[in-house]
Formats: sequence, structure tokens, C-alpha cells
Amino acid sequence: MDISIVIPLYNEAESLPELVEWIERVMKENNFTYEVLMINDGSTDSSWQVIQRLHNSNPCVKGVSFRRNYGKSPALNTGFERAQGDVVITMDADLQDSPDEIPGLYKMIMDEGYDLVSGWKKKRYDPKSKTIPTKLFNATARKVSGIKNLHDFNCGLKAYRNEVVKHIEVYGDMHRYIPYLAKNAGFTKIGEKVVQHQARKYGVTKFGLDRFVNGYLDLLTLWFQTKFGKKPMHFFGLLGSIMFLVGFIAVIIVGALKLYNMYSGHSYRLVTDSPYFYLALTSMILGTLLFLAGFLGELIIRHSPDRNHYEISEETADEKKQEQ
Ligand code: UDP
Ligand code: MG
Repeated sequence: MDISIVIPLYNEAESLPELVEWIERVMKENNFTYEVLMINDGSTDSSWQVIQRLHNSNPCVKGVSFRRNYGKSPALNTGFERAQGDVVITMDADLQDSPDEIPGLYKMIMDEGYDLVSGWKKKRYDPKSKTIPTKLFNATARKVSGIKNLHDFNCGLKAYRNEVVKHIEVYGDMHRYIPYLAKNAGFTKIGEKVVQHQARKYGVTKFGLDRFVNGYLDLLTLWFQTKFGKKPMHFFGLLGSIMFLVGFIAVIIVGALKLYNMYSGHSYRLVTDSPYFYLALTSMILGTLLFLAGFLGELIIRHSPDRNHYEISEETADEKKQEQ
């Protein structure tokens, strides 16, 4: 099969027939063999009935329905698990992404050798309250992930080589950072294609402004996991040591001042009157706590089943085995 189109949807009944009709037209014009995987994320409208109807008139349209609303990431992940096409395309259900982009994306994966191609809504039809924070969001994501050539991380329209989607797990709200997940899994040929964008035709957006707060926190999580996920002591241990050292120096200063003043006949104060005392107290406690966090992290990893999990992409053939 050439193409799997994965569509996560939540209350998008009005858009679906038009979307499927459009996809069918594009697929037919280009002679692609395909499947459309509709992941109904616990819709409360008639989306599921519409999907069933669409499936009955075209078996290439397949549906999966969640019992309740889990979010866009779990929906995408379910689609990824099931996708059979050589190229996997994700798109939103709200007709904001155009199926006319599919042949171009397919070509970039198959002919130009990209692992992942992300759409770039260069000209957007969204309210200003969304487009301005989005610019900031993308600049931060570029910096943190090190994927410098992407302008639009969270574009719903993306294309993947099948192998890529089988090796990444999209969970929580991580759909915003799929290129980062792919990069961490070792798929580094990541490209971008300018795509058409339309204003939402039916229904309403499912994400509010909290997307930016959550997006920022998720980016921090991902950064931390990527850098120190398997070696937390390298992070906490360093911070803890610095803290402890600061505290230790402060202790020496407090003690030395006191002793010096005592024996040289100067008047001397209680150590608790010295600011260094408080510095010593807090930073030694914090340093110890940071160390403890690091050690606990290491213990947790020691017992995690995938502490030594890696994907091998190729291996030289074992001659003996081949003879058998
Ligand atoms: N979506 C989903 N589950 C959710 C929220 C959204 O499957 O909990 C789907 C939604 O139906 C749409 C896509 O994710 O197909 C993108 O959502 P939306 O268009 O609301 O986001 P926006 O375009 O405003 O970023
Ligand atoms: Mg949308």
C-alpha cells in the first residue's frame, strides 16, 4: 500500500464527508493505493455514525473509536500503530489542511529520501491571538530541539516514512513535538514543505490558549528526558555539588571569622547573626536534596525495563548463520 492517511478527530461530523470525498479524488487522480484511518477521539456528536457510513461506501476508509476523549496524541499514536502504507500522512479533520498536498509530500519521502516532512502553514488563516504566540513557540522549539530548519512544529499535516511512525511513541500532548521525537529516535532527515491553509469551515477549535503553557512545559520535559533521561545524576549531581560547595565555603567563612575574632581580641557576634550562616544552611540542605533526587532517579532507571533499549538499524550479516 502506498499511503496511510491518519486523521485524529473530535466532534468533526460536518467536515468528514467533504474531507473523504476530497481525499478520494486526489488518490484516484494519482493512482495511489491507500487507506484512511479515522481515529474518533470520543466524539459526542455523530462523527462515528458518519465514519461508519463512509466505511460502508468505501472500505479504504477505516475507523477506530475511543470510548472517551483522550487527546490528539493518543489518537495519532493509535493511527501510527495501525498504518500499513509506505508513507504515513497525518492531517487534521477540520478541512484546514488540504489533501492536494499529499502527492507532493509522498514524493519528498519516496524520491528525496526524507524521513519526515512537516507542513509549514506559511500563510495562516487563524486569529492573531494564536499566530503570534505560535511564532514564539516555534522559535523556542527550534532552539531546544536543535532542528533548525522547521518553522511550524505543530502543523497537523505531516508525512513520515512508515518505519519512523513505528519507532516513536506519541503520548500525553507530545504531538506538538513529533519531529523532536523522531530526531531522538535517530531519524534526522527532516524536511519542510510550504502548504496551503484554510480557515476552519465547520465546528470550533479544540485547543485554547492553555496550549502554549502546556506546550512550554512539555518542551522542558522532553529536553530533560533527552539530555538526562538515562543519567539524571549528571544533572542533579552537578547542581547538588555546586550547592554543597557554596555551602561549605560559607561554613568555612563563618567559622574562620568567628575564630579569628575570638582569638584576636575583637568583639564577636553569634554565628547566627552572620549572613554566611544562612547561606551555608540553605545551600547545604539544597545540595543534599538535589543529590538525593539524582540518586533516586538513578535507582528508578536501574529498574526500568528499557534502560538498555536501543534500535539497531543495520548489522553485518553473520556468515555462519547464513550457511545454515
Ligand atoms: N483533536 C482530537 N482530539 C482532541 C482535540 C483535537 O482528535 O482532544 C483533533 C481535532 O478534531 C482536529 C485536530 O485534532 O482534527 C486538530 O484540532 P483543532 O483543529 O481543534 O486544532 P487547531 O487547528 O485549532 O490547532
Ligand atoms: Mg484546526
